[in-house]
Amino acid sequence: MDAPNQYRWQAGASPVNAVWPLVPPLLQDELISSWLVRCALAQGCGPLTLTGEVWPELRFWCTDPDRCLSPVQIGELSRLSGIPADALQASTLLPLHQVMTGDAGFPKSIAPWFLCLGIRNRRRSGGLQYCPKCFEQKTPHYLIEDRLAWHTACPVHQVSLLDHCECCHAPLCPQMITPPDETLGRCHRCGYELHLAPTQTASADALSFQNATDGLFSGPPIRYGDRRLLLTEWLSLSRWMIGILRTAARERSPCSKGFFLEMGVNVDGLYPPETGLPFEYLAPDDRATLLSNVWCMLRVGPDRLIDAAQRECTRPSLLLPRAGRLPASLAVLATVLRSKRHRSCSRPQTDNPRSTKSVLMRWRRLLRKFQR
Ligand SMILES: [Zn+2]
Ligand SMILES: [Zn+2]
Repeated sequence: MDAPNQYRWQAGASPVNAVWPLVPPLLQDELISSWLVRCALAQGCGPLTLTGEVWPELRFWCTDPDRCLSPVQIGELSRLSGIPADALQASTLLPLHQVMTGDAGFPKSIAPWFLCLGIRNRRRSGGLQYCPKCFEQKTPHYLIEDRLAWHTACPVHQVSLLDHCECCHAPLCPQMITPPDETLGRCHRCGYELHLAPTQTASADALSFQNATDGLFSGPPIRYGDRRLLLTEWLSLSRWMIGILRTAARERSPCSKGFFLEMGVNVDGLYPPETGLPFEYLAPDDRATLLSNVWCMLRVGPDRLIDAAQRECTRPSLLLPRAGRLPASLAVLATVLRSKRHRSCSRPQTDNPRSTKSVLMRWRRLLRKFQR
């Protein structure tokens, strides 16, 4: 899949009969926002000026620029740039979202598995990632997979992705780059060459999960026990596992320790992410830790998982989602645990002050907003 001239999501395209004088080709798997910034810099203007000319009615960079554009908006961009409309459409996140959910458009809120940019005006607090070695070896650009929450490592270089500038810790905001800069290779805030950032070897388990999930977009289903999981069910099962791992990290208990040990997960090594934010807002390292544990749990299979839940008397509040249903491949778990749930009682409300941990979590969320 990573051989030269092979692509994962879209093939790339070169301009034909463009109105604009200097249009860079849309690279393989490149995100539309990445190409738009490169296109603006090639014309010698800022991204805001370029998109203001194409869509004067849109505050393009104040919303998520990769989610989707209407056919009319894509048509106008195609006319000016000479890049075919279908190639531009394929460089948005919409085709993937449609395959994953069957929905025609994105929800207004968080779209599961798509990284959130945390936008305020044109500033962001995260949601985009890159591989320093790829930036060093090729024209710096961002890929469609750099917006996907299950991607935490570069499959070519096997190193962890970064979502910020290593020098000033600013989140990646290529839309803030303006001339005289000519590439996406430098931090918009401090000018640091992003390819100089030190790299860390990626977690093998997180990379295995990433490759398996990518494979489901075009390959056969994956076996889990006696079921064969399609992409939607795979994502639903993995999301449930992320949920119980995060709950276990927050609320440690001896019975959950035994259950996770059986799953190949060391609960003592689990820590809640510093910000406590939803999965789609987390940094690559936090997501990689969760996903490598998800991979371990998936390998164990459903039979051992259900056995372990029974044997270790795992509390139903850990395993049964408060809202929604269990993934279909583990539906039987509800029957196993149902009787215990009736006996469980809700925690009484108290007027005690917030814990230090909770206050710290709120403080870190505030700091994250100041980084915009
Ligand atoms: Zn790379
Ligand atoms: Zn910087």
